[in-house]
Amino acid sequence: MATSLVQQKQIWDHILEKVRNALANDIHLYQSFFEDTSLYNIENDLMTILVSSPVCKQFLQAEDQKGYKILSSVVKEVMESDYRLKFITKDEIYSDDTKEKKEPKKNVFFANSILNPKYTFDNFVSGECNKEAIQASLLIATNPGVSYNPLFIYSKPGLGKTHLLHALGNYYKEKYPNKKVQYISTDNFVNEFVNYLNGNQANENFKEFFETIDLLLVDDIQMLQNKKATCDLFFTIFNQFVNSGRQIVLTSDRAPSDLQGLEERLVSRFNMGLSLSMGVPSTETMMRILEKKIISNQLNIRNFDSEGLLYLAQNFSKNVRELEGALNRVIFYTINFKHMSRIDLETIKESVSPMLRQKGDSSLTEEDIIDEVAAYYNMTDSQITSKVRTSQIALARRIAMYLCRDLLSTPYLKIGKIFGGRDHSTVITAVLKVETELKTDSQMQAAISAIKKRLKK
Ligand code: ADP
Ligand code: MG
Repeated sequence: MATSLVQQKQIWDHILEKVRNALANDIHLYQSFFEDTSLYNIENDLMTILVSSPVCKQFLQAEDQKGYKILSSVVKEVMESDYRLKFITKDEIYSDDTKEKKEPKKNVFFANSILNPKYTFDNFVSGECNKEAIQASLLIATNPGVSYNPLFIYSKPGLGKTHLLHALGNYYKEKYPNKKVQYISTDNFVNEFVNYLNGNQANENFKEFFETIDLLLVDDIQMLQNKKATCDLFFTIFNQFVNSGRQIVLTSDRAPSDLQGLEERLVSRFNMGLSLSMGVPSTETMMRILEKKIISNQLNIRNFDSEGLLYLAQNFSKNVRELEGALNRVIFYTINFKHMSRIDLETIKESVSPMLRQKGDSSLTEEDIIDEVAAYYNMTDSQITSKVRTSQIALARRIAMYLCRDLLSTPYLKIGKIFGGRDHSTVITAVLKVETELKTDSQMQAAISAIKKRLKK
């Protein structure tokens, strides 16, 4: 009986939980060899397990070793039947024979770009910051090619673009098992294209490959900036998709209008569909994300002091990847050094303090200032650095210039360059104007202090 993706994940989570318990005294073994595994396929009496590296594969398939022995007995217990275990790495997926039966022609391109089953809608926490992007992704996974094409999702790093893209792909794959979905990172697209041009896949046609795909997910499209030949090719592929009603979803670390070094015709195509941004999660959403991550680590949320979790959510408030890194550090630290079951505020503070020190050291940049000023006035970064002179934009721009001087002592000449090529004296006048207004204008004082507070976080 074929198992769905969700069932497979549930089965595997259950198996892993039992393996983890069995290895409670040897948690390193669990973390090194089991933690990153997933269930790739169950067919008849064969269970195929995806592992993170050849080393991991070598260890797990050694039948005389502890890892294999524990896993096979847990599998037998959970499945109530004997299974043969097969371990494969991502690289091997497309040469795997179980796969070849279903797809006789193996992928020549993007063999390593596969959907990560760990990223689903179920474990993506929704909040004000991302609810539109989630809704649109769900809509598209259910009804591709008919509503918004392309869907363009952008955000600062670490806020869930890649997760959402995989979730969309996994959901679509489950709904339309006979359709073909391809996830690619733009970096990978560029590399494969260069490889192709160098004749490494002489008998294959790069463009034709894309004709076989029903849903195309392209991550980090900003990487196409200043790559003219690849852009041209991408433009053709993009048009093929949209013209034939096949869905394309793109992510980027900036809005389409902020993509410099990308041809106008391509950017205007991106704007044809729907672009949505994802923001920084609120503290409450960050807390729910922490909760999800704790549960997915098979740990008990009750063992974590809620004040401690709040401390993490407030101190790693701008980037979910960093928050996750902090949580992993707390778990590592408590398991390895403290051997404690209850994780209190003090322990959490102690374990993440090196990370916070590092964060504090990493210096503020002019870009951070522009970001925060733009967020405060509800504008885009490019409006702030543009030549537009409407009063609200000019005010925000003056404040950003002032903060660059005040916090970074950026030379006037450099400020002028960053802010749309203005001359040295224009910058001095702008900064002086803010300094004067700050003495008496309470609105200005409030704005500057709110923005500075955000910049310190
Ligand atoms: P980006 O691609 O925007 O840089 P990622 O998708 O790689 O960000 O996310 C970084 C990490 O944060 C991932 O492990 C992802 O699972 C997690 N993450 C981000 N947003 C959420 C969310 N809303 N719910 C759960 N996990 C999240
Ligand atoms: Mg990403």
